[in-house]
Amino acid sequence: MKVYLDNAATTPLDKEVFAAMTPYLLEYYGNPSSHHAHGRAARAAIEEARRTIAAHLNASPEEIIFTSGGTEADNTAIISAIYENGVKRVITTPFEHHAVLHTLQEQQKKGSIELEYIRHDERGNLDLDHLEHLLAEEKPTLVSVMHANNEVGNLNDIEQIGKLCKTYSALFHSDTVQTMGHYRFDLQKLNVDFLAASAHKFHGPKGVGFLFCRKGIKQARLLQGGGQERSLRAGTENIHGIIGLAKALEIACCHLDEHQQHVVKIKESLIGQLTQLFPDVSFNGNSGLLDRSLYTVLNVSLPASGVSLLGHLDEEGIAASGGSACSTGYRSHVLTALKADPSREHIRFSFSKYNTLTEIDYLVETLIALYQEIAA
Ligand code: PLP
Repeated sequence: MKVYLDNAATTPLDKEVFAAMTPYLLEYYGNPSSHHAHGRAARAAIEEARRTIAAHLNASPEEIIFTSGGTEADNTAIISAIYENGVKRVITTPFEHHAVLHTLQEQQKKGSIELEYIRHDERGNLDLDHLEHLLAEEKPTLVSVMHANNEVGNLNDIEQIGKLCKTYSALFHSDTVQTMGHYRFDLQKLNVDFLAASAHKFHGPKGVGFLFCRKGIKQARLLQGGGQERSLRAGTENIHGIIGLAKALEIACCHLDEHQQHVVKIKESLIGQLTQLFPDVSFNGNSGLLDRSLYTVLNVSLPASGVSLLGHLDEEGIAASGGSACSTGYRSHVLTALKADPSREHIRFSFSKYNTLTEIDYLVETLIALYQEIAA
């Protein structure tokens, strides 16, 4: 049996998304900047995709800028805040993805910003009183806090953080790479200035995403060249990717409740079975709490097995991971910040609409067989 439980790393492409993309590889291959009919068809499709995305987020189409994915969107947001909007200090968390953390740390090293971290408890819950205390010090500030963590799934209260940012006139960037397509966003209500998203986390293609940059906030040009994306992001548009991104978001938003209910059942089943069968199991961060974590992620802490648990699962056809796919081979900075016991096994299982309860039963049987083998 082949079981894919690494959906926080990437999700399988939805066949309907693939079908929507193929005409833009085979028939409508014009360069969107060309003035002839081929080019005009491609341009029209891109602008339609932008309108679709904007409509699902209650944003304006001109606030959506297509990028090569979440990393570029995060980098653009941070560089824009510092170099185009006068930010001198950034307040963030130690749990951010490296697309955010490394960008910020490099700017700190260059002396462009002061960098501060919000205090948190042992489960990774952010201390918003501390954030408010930091914000009260008047400095041109960007707050960069992800909506949900990609390793342990902790959900942050971006609504409340947005309100604090508004009160203290700070800019707010949220990495929503793990939540876009899985939660609803109303950007007329949510006070966020920048938001980053990536298609391959919600059954779209890899290598495409978008940055939401609120009207009135200046955006930096990371890439120099042609006048694409209103001269804000040079380079011929990834048209089939953009079409796939919009289609994937449309499907995700239209079926959100149904998919959420299905995936929650999968996560509940795994939590229930593991808790019952492994007396020494625990869940990292807020992962085991359904109301405080991303429903697609469960980060499990099991007793040391003495073997490569992930390797063994892989041999049995089960794909999971130890954390972020981008940092494979390194000790996770998220688990380090949570002071997770390094002598235990920490495995991230992440789910999608395509997983089944039968797959979860198979995973649990495989884990039990492995631990019995070790004990024997
Ligand atoms: N931010 C988070 C929270 C992620 O999980 C990821 C990818 O794993 C990224 C950013 C980077 O996105 P992309 O792979 O599209 O560059």
